Amino acid sequence: MRAKKAKVRRTAKASIAEMPKSTELYLLSQILKSKEHGEQFASLQSIIYNFTNETRQFGYKAGFALGELFAKHFELDKLQELFEHAGFGKLLYNTAEHEAIAIATASSEVDAGMNMHIFEAGMLAGFFSAKTGKALGAEETHCLLNGGKCTFLIGVGKAPQSNAIADFSKAAEMIERSIGHSKACENYYLLSFLPILQQPLLSSSAKLAYLLGKRLGYKGVDAEQLASYLQVDGKMSNSEMILSYSHLLSHSGYVLVSSMLLRGYLQSRFKKGVAVEQHLSRGRYELRLRLV
Ligand SMILES: [Zn+2]
Repeated sequence: MRAKKAKVRRTAKASIAEMPKSTELYLLSQILKSKEHGEQFASLQSIIYNFTNETRQFGYKAGFALGELFAKHFELDKLQELFEHAGFGKLLYNTAEHEAIAIATASSEVDAGMNMHIFEAGMLAGFFSAKTGKALGAEETHCLLNGGKCTFLIGVGKAPQSNAIADFSKAAEMIERSIGHSKACENYYLLSFLPILQQPLLSSSAKLAYLLGKRLGYKGVDAEQLASYLQVDGKMSNSEMILSYSHLLSHSGYVLVSSMLLRGYLQSRFKKGVAVEQHLSRGRYELRLRLV
């Protein structure tokens, strides 16, 4: 059993091995420094992580590896700050004999209809496993996106329980409900997105984003608000949409995944083709999505 868990941990590490650790550490330090707190919503990355049983496992493992990395450099008080700045509110932590419980105090008006923080459950499991030297797991039993407060049980044998979303309409609805409640802590937003912005998940994330965009186009959500849900500045005119990415989010993988969502959206909303022009200037991407 122990050997199996060690293998799971090695796999999680290998899957994000290509990412320079300094990028993650840089983002972590920026989150800890930031004064403005973001809010938690049904973000695109949390939807992708929860979409299938495979992506749920991937998200949990990626979070686990990040939690282990965090534990090498920081203590619990910094983990609590990280959660607070990321929009979870204060993270209260208590230990009992066989398990620990971490409750985040923030609440939200967004109702995703399920517990969404599998990446964070992995992060807590990774952090406390590294700190205690035991193979611990974590399960989110309540969630601020599901009418409660995010509650994580951490202990031996704990593992995420709830089901995958596996349904495009349901996922599109989660996004629709998050629109207008999506002020992210940008550094945390990118940090939690990074594991799916590279292969093996980049192509399937882009495809999933495109199909979700199509659903959102049929629903007729507002174009600029949808861009803002993606933390991108969007300007919509009769014939095109201009997207301006911040310096931080000008990550080629993120530009691909987010623009695929808007591309799918524009196609179904306006029943037209979309031609994409991409410019990178001074480290910032600007995209022109032209209706043709
Ligand atoms: Zn949650």
